[in-house]
Amino acid sequence: DGASYGVLPRPCRALVLLNPQSGAGRALEDFQAVVQPMLADADITPTIFVTERPHHAQEKVQDEDLSQWDVLVVMSGDGLLHEVLNGLMERPDWEEALQTPLCILPGGSGNALAASINYYAGNDHVAKKKLLTNCTFILCKGLHAPMDLVSLSTASGKRFFSFLGFGWGFIADVDIDSEKYRRLGNARFTLGTLQCLVRLRVYQGRLSYLPAATEPGTPRDAKAPARQATATAGTEAPGGHGALPADTLLAPLGQPVPPHWVVVPEEEFVCVYAIYQSHLGTNLLMAPAARLHDGCIHLFYVGAGISRVALLKIFLAMGRGTHLELNCPHLHCVPVRAFRLEPWGSAGVMTVDGEALACEPVQGQIHGRMCRVVTG
Ligand code: ADP
Ligand code: MG
Repeated sequence: DGASYGVLPRPCRALVLLNPQSGAGRALEDFQAVVQPMLADADITPTIFVTERPHHAQEKVQDEDLSQWDVLVVMSGDGLLHEVLNGLMERPDWEEALQTPLCILPGGSGNALAASINYYAGNDHVAKKKLLTNCTFILCKGLHAPMDLVSLSTASGKRFFSFLGFGWGFIADVDIDSEKYRRLGNARFTLGTLQCLVRLRVYQGRLSYLPAATEPGTPRDAKAPARQATATAGTEAPGGHGALPADTLLAPLGQPVPPHWVVVPEEEFVCVYAIYQSHLGTNLLMAPAARLHDGCIHLFYVGAGISRVALLKIFLAMGRGTHLELNCPHLHCVPVRAFRLEPWGSAGVMTVDGEALACEPVQGQIHGRMCRVVTG
């Protein structure tokens, strides 16, 4: 569907939100050395906004005059893009604001969206400076396309918009526990994985989902038809602004899931991860079939009882995206449009786009093609 693709204008005005603390702490240096010369050649003028603290970028985009910018570039890890996205969603004009193309340049230690976009573009698997160069080249070309988002709601009434994934159990623990090794860059996840394998634990709860494969003729793209403020609690923007898109596929938490949902019989898990792009990290091709706007949440779960060796094999195979070919009976992968996770107890962490979240019941659904990203 070529009609949904766009191209950045020239000259192009880019607001670059840069986290100097992301990754190994070299984002500003790398931007100046690698990115800036390439942008100059492509007639893209960057204005750099260096973040000073968490939520700084989120506040910046909340009341920024977006007519000044042709693209919002995030030079950091996935965490900063998550902030930017949720800052845009807090605007009364969120729907229009989301039409501003977003671009991710890998400056962090977790650069899953950058790795996904590099993969969709058909480029070789690369990391570090090569990935940064590839992503900058994609920005110079300036094509942009729609991207799906997932709306997540928690039992305590929080609502987030997420572009990458939601996790609980093993992967979430690795993500959060390895924050202290951020200076190692992507290697933090290898070290974190080995540490979490040693003290492997089981998480109890109930997982339910709405399968993507429904009646023939139903579009896979689950764009919410309704924009009116009729649906579940938490759809009203803070400050009484325009209504956010309604989660039409979800029943309120606390009520049973709708009757056509699947409730997973297992209630003991090592890991649950709902991913909407291909990569979980630079070197982890978790959902090889995923695309920017496939209308799908790729729901993975690993049941309890898996051995450490089998789990390690899955992670090693994920480097090439061949983990499903292992036919491990504990590993499940289902394309879904919505899911609900009800942990028993509040021990452990959950992650949204790699950022930590207190453990509580959560559900989410896909909203097809809600924002735009620069892509190859
Ligand atoms: P990484 O991949 O290295 O974790 P992220 O982009 O995910 O990089 O950023 C991690 C966190 O850093 C985010 O939660 C963000 O809010 C926070 N952050 C942004 N700017 C700063 C700053 N100047 N100092 C410290 N933390 C920051
Ligand atoms: Mg991060």
